[in-house]
Amino acid sequence: MTTTASPRTNWAGNIAFSAPDFYRPASLGELRAVVARARQVRVLGTGHSFNDMADSPGAQVSLAGLPPEAEVDSAASLVRVAAGVTYASLASRLDRHGFALRNLASLPHISVAGACATGTHGSGPANQNLSAAVAGLELVIADGDVVQLNRGDDGFPGAVVHLGGLGAVTRLILELVPSFEVSQRVYEGLPLDVLDDHFAAIMAAGYSVSMFTDWRAPRLTQLWVKSLAEDGPPAIEGEPWFTATPAPSTRNPVPGLPGDNATAQLGKPGPWFERLPHFRPEFTPSAGDELQSEYLLPAEHAVPALHALSQVSDRLAAVVRIAEVRRIAADDLWLSPCYRQDTVAFHFTWLPDTAAVLPVVTLVERQLAPFGPRPHWGKVFTTPAAELAERYDRLTDFLALAGHYDPAGKFRNAYTARCLGR
Ligand SMILES: Cc1cc2nc3c(=O)[nH]c(=O)nc-3n(C[C@H](O)[C@H](O)[C@H](O)COP(=O)(O)OP(=O)(O)OC[C@H]3O[C@@H](n4cnc5c(N)ncnc54)[C@H](O)[C@@H]3O)c2cc1C
Repeated sequence: MTTTASPRTNWAGNIAFSAPDFYRPASLGELRAVVARARQVRVLGTGHSFNDMADSPGAQVSLAGLPPEAEVDSAASLVRVAAGVTYASLASRLDRHGFALRNLASLPHISVAGACATGTHGSGPANQNLSAAVAGLELVIADGDVVQLNRGDDGFPGAVVHLGGLGAVTRLILELVPSFEVSQRVYEGLPLDVLDDHFAAIMAAGYSVSMFTDWRAPRLTQLWVKSLAEDGPPAIEGEPWFTATPAPSTRNPVPGLPGDNATAQLGKPGPWFERLPHFRPEFTPSAGDELQSEYLLPAEHAVPALHALSQVSDRLAAVVRIAEVRRIAADDLWLSPCYRQDTVAFHFTWLPDTAAVLPVVTLVERQLAPFGPRPHWGKVFTTPAAELAERYDRLTDFLALAGHYDPAGKFRNAYTARCLGR
């Protein structure tokens, strides 16, 4: 087991982890011993969250040294995967078995456990977030015991999106679908006012649709439509209101960046895992030098929420690299930002300047407040705990679950104190 106290940061470099002890156990036994012994402990996934949620006042543990197993049960259409495995690594293995995950996030570099812990999502009105594929999970709880929770068990819907607060998740069981092909097309220059009457139709024009704007003009810089290859080109091209231009070459959603790190476009069909993310695993995703925030709210408020953001477009434009709008289907997971609501998500990739960005983050929260926005747990937000409690009906139940598995609060940190009041 590796142990180090050297200073480390999250992927974006905006958080210097303060945990005095860092462990990388090589076996379940070693992990159980670390957790049982620690007074305070948190697990670090691949560190792609933009806040201090993975930090710890005591031990911080990476599970990247545990065997990267992924056992496919073809008969049941399930995979049992080690927590630290990334979606990039898992996806190609699943595809070789003829299976797929229903959806992926914009990047495949993140760990399965870390992504599911925060309710990470892609897009598509019929696609739930990645956590909704979880059919079971195994975790090492505060006293070092191993607990298995499966769908149908008491507390299971509370345990899937757990923000790292219940224990160290060592394995997840994910539901699979048969492998499928996707083709991706990018369009440019759709006027924002077209969305007033056609937002839902455009979002439903593909399996997964993303709208991008830099807020510097009232138009979408890009519209990414990922279609099931069997469906052919998206129907929007024939619509009278559709005035966007097909991009003539491969695009990066971040203005000014080359298309090389983006997944294949121009309508060329390919495997699900090479089209559903925006970014290819062998490159740095997105800009690299950035912060991110995202707010999720009921899909029926999409157009008024867009108008509310347009009112402050000059403030957004000053600090944003690119913004993205996506749709996600409702789920039943207590701390999921999509809990019991079909959702629209407003994402912001900011310049890497915390001091300049934070006031604009608060402004976005104020503009979106009438729509009850739930911030992405893994990104930058300033929403106070009292407002989070109002927006999560099952927060009290989650806190009771955390008290059950972790009575002494070993898995608490500054983030859980600030956001959950625990
Ligand atoms: C470039 C970029 C693009 C992104 N795109 C998207 C996107 O398209 N959609 C989206 O929703 N999000 C997106 N995100 C956010 C990202 O998906 C989430 O922050 C995700 O949680 C990161 O996973 P991770 O493995 O890095 O987890 P970490 O950031 O390391 O950890 C996240 C939380 O999970 C806990 N945790 C991790 N592993 C375990 C474990 N095994 N047991 C217990 N707790 C654990 C940690 O303690 C922490 O609280 C993006 C981030 C970046 C940097």
